[in-house]
Amino acid sequence: MSKQRVVILGAGYAGLRTVKELQKKNLDIEIIIVNKNDYHYESTQLHEVAAGTEPADKICFNVSDVINKEKVKFIKDTVTKIDKDSRVVLLENTGELTYDYLVVALGFVSETFGIPGVDAYSLPLVDINTAEAAKRHLDATLANYQKSKDPQDLSIVVCGAGFTSVEYLGEITNRIPKLADKMNFPKEQVSITCIEAMPKLLPMFSEKLGGYGIDVLKKRGVDFKVGTPIKEIKDKTVVYEENGELKEIKANTIIWTTGVKGSPVIGESGFDERRGRVMVEPDLTVTGYPEIFMIGDVSAVMDKDSGRPYPTTAQIALKQGDSVAENLRLTLNNQTTIPFEYKSLGTVASIGNNVGIGNVMGREVRGYMGSIMKKNIINKSLLEVGNTKTLLKKGRFDYYH
Ligand code: FAD
Repeated sequence: MSKQRVVILGAGYAGLRTVKELQKKNLDIEIIIVNKNDYHYESTQLHEVAAGTEPADKICFNVSDVINKEKVKFIKDTVTKIDKDSRVVLLENTGELTYDYLVVALGFVSETFGIPGVDAYSLPLVDINTAEAAKRHLDATLANYQKSKDPQDLSIVVCGAGFTSVEYLGEITNRIPKLADKMNFPKEQVSITCIEAMPKLLPMFSEKLGGYGIDVLKKRGVDFKVGTPIKEIKDKTVVYEENGELKEIKANTIIWTTGVKGSPVIGESGFDERRGRVMVEPDLTVTGYPEIFMIGDVSAVMDKDSGRPYPTTAQIALKQGDSVAENLRLTLNNQTTIPFEYKSLGTVASIGNNVGIGNVMGREVRGYMGSIMKKNIINKSLLEVGNTKTLLKKGRFDYYH
């Protein structure tokens, strides 16, 4: 009899963690992981690549270097569709892949909220390619000022003031003064505007903690526009509404970090989804399809305490990977699966290399201490999806920078 086949789609936090835990369990099964690139990237650090404070290589490692090749087969390909009724995954280049069990962990794409011009005229931060494109664009535009003397070359607009936006702002405000010395543009003339639709900045933190983070950025020159929804992005122009009036800001660099949604493959495969996310059963399977687990940013897990789904984060994706590996072991042994349980350990946002703000196990941290916590979190996640070698090569040990 042939072995049962478990196929994992996506080698991000959720997918790679599932594989790492599954291969430890010594089950007599065939394990296949599919990913569009031969490398994993730390999505939580994309803003560093986009701002140019870290090279892409620092946040990437080869999938093959961290899996046990005797137990797991890696296929580099792009998933185009899941035929859930025939139990087949369609791949762009290598054809069809059948499965007995499927773990869907295809992550996120940029959310445009249907705002006109976003795709055409702004730069998202959702993977290595988009982050590197944003860096190339920013560097070229700032360098161009020498020739053009056009103030728009020194104007940057960051759309959205959520977690990613604030972390990106933290990085560029660290780097721009150094670039100004190198590229010879007047740093005092650089204009950085952050536009947010919601009335409150960083709502995941207390007023005091969020305010501290925003003040750090304001002191570094960022101008925040709050409660000002973006209506359209035009060529080198952001149109937003303020007090019922439409206004424009001209900028040659427009970064789009207003939010993300789950992979479009989920909708195209006919799953019952909202913004690319499927509300999963307590054991992380899809309703009506007990052989399919849906995890990471393509899943929505209900938090019983708040009555709302948990926010999609790397932290929950990693924990889901642990849970799915164990539930697969139970299922394969004809035992009952265990409901997924989650307790957040907290959240830390970096504001450049040496400042961070966050809640860690019920305590607020900020400033330099916050940045140490952030580095510890990055190092922990490198161990959880990679290995000791990955940690030593890619880890953050510049605590006294
Ligand atoms: P991902 O990690 O995105 O992995 C998905 C994988 O699937 C990728 O390898 C991708 O290449 C692959 N893939 C996608 N489509 C296909 C396809 N069609 N075929 C084959 N392969 C495919 N969370 C936190 O907890 N803390 C933070 O501080 C934090 N900071 C963030 C900062 C930024 C800039 C961003 C963008 C996100 C941040 N997040 C943070 C959120 C976190 O990154 C995501 O919640 C997390 O990456 C989700 O994990 P995942 O495994 O679902 O997806």
